[in-house]
Amino acid sequence: MFSHLSSLDHVTPPGHPERVERYDAIMKALADPRFDTLDRREAPIADPADILRCHPQAYVDSIEVAIPDSGFVSLDPDTHVSPGSLEAAQRGVGGCCAAVDAVLAGEVANAFVCMRPPGHHAETARAMGFCLFGNIAIAAKRALDHHGLERVAVIDFDVHHGNGTQDLLWTEERAMFCSTHQMPLYPGSGHPSETGAHGTIVNVPLDPNTGGAEMRRAYDDAILPMVEEFEPQLILVSAGFDAHEADPLAQLYWTTEDFGWVTKRICEVAAATCGGRVVSTLEGGYDLQALADSTAAHVEVLMEAGA
Ligand SMILES: [Zn+2]
Repeated sequence: MFSHLSSLDHVTPPGHPERVERYDAIMKALADPRFDTLDRREAPIADPADILRCHPQAYVDSIEVAIPDSGFVSLDPDTHVSPGSLEAAQRGVGGCCAAVDAVLAGEVANAFVCMRPPGHHAETARAMGFCLFGNIAIAAKRALDHHGLERVAVIDFDVHHGNGTQDLLWTEERAMFCSTHQMPLYPGSGHPSETGAHGTIVNVPLDPNTGGAEMRRAYDDAILPMVEEFEPQLILVSAGFDAHEADPLAQLYWTTEDFGWVTKRICEVAAATCGGRVVSTLEGGYDLQALADSTAAHVEVLMEAGA
């Protein structure tokens, strides 16, 4: 696992759901003795070149300029930065890239990156939905452009559509992007007709007030067979836990066990296609107990698969 205490320095305004306490809740859950053997590493600051594979310099500059000396600055109605936000976001990207490096070097079979802010709503030149940089898309580009992989798959099970990842990978035919998400819901994208410039984007919206059975069908019948057919050399995961039945921001009814199930199925497909190589990163999840329990279930399955 890659994490860093700078996640606690990205402070959001009072009442904001994407809050410091999320990181604390997860770390408390991962302090349980069953995680004693978890390989824990610090998420490094990103190499600027990695960020520039997905975002133009002018956008990166605009984020740096926006960071206040105190208090908050709002980049959009949902997305705010505090004095510590830049380092936290840079380490979010850096953690994802370091995780790709470690997995591709064979140091670890898989890795979970536990950082905030999340990343999957950040578009090429637009911060939105609590996100500054497109962490998982940047990780995909590093695997392709730096390590020379020919095919990577990104699976996003956050309850919101990963519009940013879709935007950043829209013209990238070496990357498949698959997403389940509640529809209708923020940000409004993710219709099945959105398939990318090369047909490598797969959107499977889920109806509000549906649960684990519908989710499992979406993965078993639609997404995972297409991922297998794509034969990825690495699977990246946007792991948001806001489809949980307890989450206040959406209306899906997944249980903690459902998050363990989808993680296990992803690991099985990874074992069949790419030697089990998986890099997962934290996205959403706003009920602290559900977030802690679901993340623990996710990490536990990753550890079992990587053992
Ligand atoms: Zn979300």
